[in-house]
Amino acid sequence: MSDSATAPRNVAFLGLGTMGFPMAGHLARAGHAVTVYNRTAAKAEAWVAAHGGRSAPTVEEAVAGADTVFLCVGGDDDVREVTAKALGALAPGAVIADHSTVSAAVSREMDALASARRVSFLDAPVSGGQAGAEKGILTVMVGGDADAFARAQPLMAAFGRSVVHMGPSGAGQLTKMVNQICIAGLVQALAEGLSFAQRAGLDGHKVVDVISKGAAQSWQMENRGHTMLDGKFDFGFAVDWMRKDLGIVLDEARRNGATLPVTAVVDQFYADVQAMGGNRLDTSSLMKRLTAKG
Ligand code: NAP
Repeated sequence: MSDSATAPRNVAFLGLGTMGFPMAGHLARAGHAVTVYNRTAAKAEAWVAAHGGRSAPTVEEAVAGADTVFLCVGGDDDVREVTAKALGALAPGAVIADHSTVSAAVSREMDALASARRVSFLDAPVSGGQAGAEKGILTVMVGGDADAFARAQPLMAAFGRSVVHMGPSGAGQLTKMVNQICIAGLVQALAEGLSFAQRAGLDGHKVVDVISKGAAQSWQMENRGHTMLDGKFDFGFAVDWMRKDLGIVLDEARRNGATLPVTAVVDQFYADVQAMGGNRLDTSSLMKRLTAKG
């Protein structure tokens, strides 16, 4: 899937979760020398069994000698913890690319810490979900130093179809926030439409097939419409992660004055899904909340 025709590089990948595991795999397939680290060591062993390369028992050992370090972990505090460890072992001139979705503030904080050690820190959140990571067709929105971006971009092309520099540190995360705002209301609208179709006695699958060819078409409708009707939510992007992301969005909106009434209410709908035990269900489980209401 990769079109990253670039000389082999020494890289490290930290965090082999739903996203990181396949992303690191694309880097190895593109011919780079990849050392992986995962907090739970079994995943790192499974990755090496699948892709070759090397695993290391600590962050510090994984990044030693790497010119570029990728991370894809959890929230702000996870990025702080992993970045601090990496910075302790990286040589000046190295680049850290953080693919986690976190606040713009923590990205700027990490950028300042990294700069003090003459390391570059790029905030580089991704969109495209598990399937996009597996197929190597993610969208990567990057903030930070332009020269560091130019060096990291050919590597990110191993797992990204669209890899775009959005501006200074934090600009990648701010772009990802726009992405999440656009998704939240849309998934709720899709859940409402499909639940309406069911109550109206229509064949929901036929409805999705026909209206996805018209103006209501969306990635969510094409990729999640049928599974929502079938009550399948055991895959994809977890509700817990979406609540983290919407929390970041709503915090940022309080700072910049943006009015996000739909995003705020959908965030509460996701809290309902969590209360129903749906923490790890896909975000399309907003449908479950409507059907559960009987
Ligand atoms: P995941 O499957 O839960 O995996 C998280 C990974 O991060 C695991 O490898 C975990 O290690 C590691 N980790 C978390 N906190 C850590 C810490 N403090 N120190 C060391 N390792 C730590 O998550 P994911 O779905 O891959 O998502 C990762 C990031 O990408 C999140 O920021 C998420 O919002 C973002 N994202 C996800 C998607 C998606 O569709 N899943 C899409 C776009 C963006 P263990 O194995 O030890 O738990």
